[in-house]
Parts: sequence; structure tokens; C-alpha cells
Amino acid sequence: MTPHATVVESLRQEGYRLTPQRMMILDIINDSVSHMSAEEIHQKVRERYPFVNISTVYRTLNLLKRLRLISETDLGEGYVRYELLERERHHHLVCRRCGESFALEHDFLKPLQLRLLKKYGFAADLDHFAIFGLCQRCRSGEGTAAAGKEGQHGAD
Ligand SMILES: [Zn+2]
Ligand SMILES: [Zn+2]
Repeated sequence: MTPHATVVESLRQEGYRLTPQRMMILDIINDSVSHMSAEEIHQKVRERYPFVNISTVYRTLNLLKRLRLISETDLGEGYVRYELLERERHHHLVCRRCGESFALEHDFLKPLQLRLLKKYGFAADLDHFAIFGLCQRCRSGEGTAAAGKEGQHGAD
């Protein structure tokens, strides 16, 4: 899947050009199997452009986020992770005890989206959510409080 056509179009509508750096950052996010942090994206960028600093990466991420090409989600790790919005819309259930993360289908949030629209006339984005709580295992006392466990994201 290539997001480039959509991206070029969105950028152009907003009066931005698709510079090699912006293209590269999008490619990096697109190629990654898990959601990436700004640090991880920066490391990859530096493999090709050693002099790009992290504030450039953040600026680009903010631009892409504003254009709603990527989403930013706090999965409870103390920093946010980025992902392309073109991918299948999904959310996460994150256990605050063991750190395990479970995929949540977007269907669960559709009724909320509809009710917000009906009651407040508000069209909520609901792009990419992390909902915190206790997983089944931890609720039944079997879970272990594993530090630094990343569940399905398993980055690094
Ligand atoms: Zn996600
Ligand atoms: Zn748990």
C-alpha cells in the first residue's frame, strides 16, 4: 500500500510540498509493523540523513498529524507513538497492571460517534485510542506486573 498519492494531494491542498524528508518520514511510518515513537523514527531518518535533528522530525510529525495523515497515541509508555491513519482503523485496550495491549475494533466506538453527533452535533474524529484498565488475567489475579512489557507492539 502506498500512501503517497493521498499525501501529495493533502499537502498540496494545504500549500505544502512533499519534501524528501517528509516523504521519508512517511515511508518509515508506513514500513513499520508496529507504531513508532519519534525517537525510533529519528533513528531511522539518521541512517540516511545523519544531520537531521529530532526537532525537524517533530515538526514534520506535527504537520502530518494536522493534515490527519498520521495519528498520535499515548499507549501509557510516557511518550506517544505514531501510525498512518490510512491503515485499518483500530484502537487499543491497555492493561495498566501488566502492560499488555489488545486490539479494539473501531466498531465499538461507532455508537459513541453517532451519539455525539446526535446529541452535540459534534463529529468526533476518534482516530486512534488507547483505553486503560485491567485485563482479564490481572482481574482474576493471575497477571504479573511485568515492567516494560509491550504486548503486541513489541517494538525494539
Ligand atoms: Zn494502534
Ligand atoms: Zn493485565
